[in-house]
Amino acid sequence: MNHNGQAMVIGGGLAGCEAAWQLLCRGCRVTLWEMKPERYSPAHSSPGLAELVCSNSLRSGDPASAAGLLKEEMRRLGSLLMAAADRTSLPAGKSLAVDRQLFSSHIQEHLLAWGERFQLVRREIAELPTAAPTIVATGPLTSDALTAAIQRLTGRECLYFYDAVAPIVAADSVDPTRSFWASRYDPSSEEGAGDYLNCPLSEETYHAFREEILAAEKFPLRSFESPRYFEGCLPVEILAQRGPRTLLFGPMKPVGLTDPRTGRQPWAVVQLRRENASGTLLNMVGFQTKLTRPEQERIFRMIPGLSQAEFARYGSIHRNTFLRSPGLINNRLQLISYPHLLFAGQLTGVEGYIESAAMGLYAGLSLARMLTGVELSPPPDTTALGSLIRHITTAGKKEFQPMNINHGLLRPLSLRIKKSERGREYARRSLDDLSAWMTQQGIEVLPG
Ligand SMILES: Cc1cc2nc3c(=O)[nH]c(=O)nc-3n(C[C@H](O)[C@H](O)[C@H](O)COP(=O)(O)OP(=O)(O)OC[C@H]3O[C@@H](n4cnc5c(N)ncnc54)[C@H](O)[C@@H]3O)c2cc1C
Repeated sequence: MNHNGQAMVIGGGLAGCEAAWQLLCRGCRVTLWEMKPERYSPAHSSPGLAELVCSNSLRSGDPASAAGLLKEEMRRLGSLLMAAADRTSLPAGKSLAVDRQLFSSHIQEHLLAWGERFQLVRREIAELPTAAPTIVATGPLTSDALTAAIQRLTGRECLYFYDAVAPIVAADSVDPTRSFWASRYDPSSEEGAGDYLNCPLSEETYHAFREEILAAEKFPLRSFESPRYFEGCLPVEILAQRGPRTLLFGPMKPVGLTDPRTGRQPWAVVQLRRENASGTLLNMVGFQTKLTRPEQERIFRMIPGLSQAEFARYGSIHRNTFLRSPGLINNRLQLISYPHLLFAGQLTGVEGYIESAAMGLYAGLSLARMLTGVELSPPPDTTALGSLIRHITTAGKKEFQPMNINHGLLRPLSLRIKKSERGREYARRSLDDLSAWMTQQGIEVLPG
């Protein structure tokens, strides 16, 4: 792939701007196509590039947290978004919050400052280029025409429109004395084996739990999120509303399970299933929800065994266009069947501002290398960036769901390290490995 160092980027959001910046800084020429202000998605409202559509917080700034670590890695790779965030930050405790208007202006001005090497075209793209090296970064609310074009290339079954995700908790935050491993109807479960970690609830706890779900604060539906739920994927609060026992025939079904502590079937159970190969993350099976995050923490911690649960991802249900990336895109973010097309941002199946921008950064870096005739190897999965790339390219296809960065995605630490020190150790290992990877791949550190 040569094309005289000329690249196209579709979508001037977080990922598209970051991709364009990396391409420009690494010697390429870029045309960025953005449909605003000619056309707005239902969530966008400002004509500026890199618009933050909702919260102005980019989450934790502390590298000992996974979100903070990803940000630090991006800084080291010369991220424009991180530079903008650092310059336009507002006081927000440990979080990195920004003035959204200044943030967007900073990014737009820095891209336009490249002069004739950077062309910004304000137009909707409805078809994918047939040969030009292109990064598609049109986000969770990609326009209808382009969505149809992507579908024609990938097949209908490879593009999703809804996220209905259950919370994920850190395995080591579940109390083993109040839960037991077993599979339904599996005789081996009596010996503590089985694929599910079950948290049993008494009748009284079950009813109190259901009452709290009914009364909880929920995210309001936005105009473009019509509540068309699949019966098999209903939010827990809808099930709870249907009747006092409905949950007992759904995600809290106890049949086929015996609590080894009582020798009896519990009144109700919440089942947790391994979310990753290393078993560091557990998915709360069937607990997709529109409860707000604080309410999820408060109410789900009522479940015996989960009183100290650490949430690696919260449950949610929202409109989200994303690819079933595993098997469809490779670890350079190219569409395997049309390698001149790379995907970036939330479309690749990551979740969140910073994760989307990180996929833009990597797609830009990756395409810049291809245009100069060198192929990039992905960063190791000891880094936050590498672990996200691994997740979207190798996770199980069937149950693939978008993911925020969290420590459970990184390769587990090999040493026995105290829980309170693990965050720092993840950060130390990751930043060392990132700089070794940059040296090995010949990735220049960009001037700040
Ligand atoms: C309603 C909503 C609220 C969210 N709130 C948060 C939050 O608070 N915190 C968080 O971390 N994450 C949030 N997210 C998730 C996600 O982090 C953001 O959507 C993020 O902006 C995704 O980055 P992106 O670059 O992939 O897409 P975007 O930032 O959406 O950028 C895509 C760009 O492509 C343009 N575009 C679309 N189609 C075309 C086309 N055919 N031709 C040309 N241009 C096109 C769009 O106008 C847009 O500018 C939210 C998502 C949604 C939908």
